[in-house]
Amino acid sequence: MTFHIQAIDVGYLNLQGAANAFLIEGPSGFALVESGTAATWPALVNQLELCGVHPTQIMDLLLTHIHLDHAGAAGHFAAGDSRVWVHSFGVVHLVDPTKLLASSRRVHGEMYERFYGDLWPIPESQALAVVDGQGISAVGLEFHAIETPGHARHHHAWLLEHADQRHIFVGDALGIAVPNSDFISIPTPPPEFDPLAWKQSLRRLRDAAPTHLWLTHGGLQSSNTADALRFIDRVQARLQEECDFLQMRATKIMVSGARESSAYEHALLSAIQEYKNWLHPKAADAGVSAQHMYQFLGDYFLRMNLQGALRHASTRA
Ligand SMILES: [Zn+2]
Repeated sequence: MTFHIQAIDVGYLNLQGAANAFLIEGPSGFALVESGTAATWPALVNQLELCGVHPTQIMDLLLTHIHLDHAGAAGHFAAGDSRVWVHSFGVVHLVDPTKLLASSRRVHGEMYERFYGDLWPIPESQALAVVDGQGISAVGLEFHAIETPGHARHHHAWLLEHADQRHIFVGDALGIAVPNSDFISIPTPPPEFDPLAWKQSLRRLRDAAPTHLWLTHGGLQSSNTADALRFIDRVQARLQEECDFLQMRATKIMVSGARESSAYEHALLSAIQEYKNWLHPKAADAGVSAQHMYQFLGDYFLRMNLQGALRHASTRA
């Protein structure tokens, strides 16, 4: 039961190193973890063809969650007959993406058309629900789903074992490794960011004793258990400081006034500025270039994170 894994840069946000899909060649064919967005479909097709694979040869598509940078081209693969494996909460949104797309338009605003695009509906017979701990057989390999909410409720990491190797495709559960730096960025988007659930998910990933950690945003981060656990520890420290910072700012914004009032909007803008003043020096110390700072940790990203923290705080209030 041998396999080969190839990270494919899908060119998300027109940037190098922003997001991957993972091509897996197993004993009986090709599988893919993550699909990129509808907007990155042509680039992904090109990259697959450079690997000698036509998209219709992808028999199984495994999704970590249904955010569009992970699942946006799933319908394109389904149109070519791929089976699509997804968290049971995600199935309904793949079969009828109307609500998912509306929510994504709200989160991404003017970036939506350019960088995301619409997910095509997937026939019910091809959208396969997976629950925590479930094993699935694909391309002659066994994958196990590890439920890992926090970034999103409908999130799985996928474990693939071989001999003494334990590969885990972690989706967004271990954040974003900013290219050419040691910085781990923590994406906390609305509507399902949940700090407590996320911390428990880190524990679950630790307990799975991974060797190889494959980040959708950042690629391969380790090839032995000691390095993998060290990486998870670094994510845990970053998550904790982000949560502390965001929780305080969210509380401040919430007491400023009614949602969408000018006082509220003003408090949000000043929180974005404080966030930047706090985060950017840390990222620079970890080697993030000025250009990547703007591309990966700009106002758009910081606003999304604050909105996620606000949404979480308001559901608890
Ligand atoms: Zn996500």
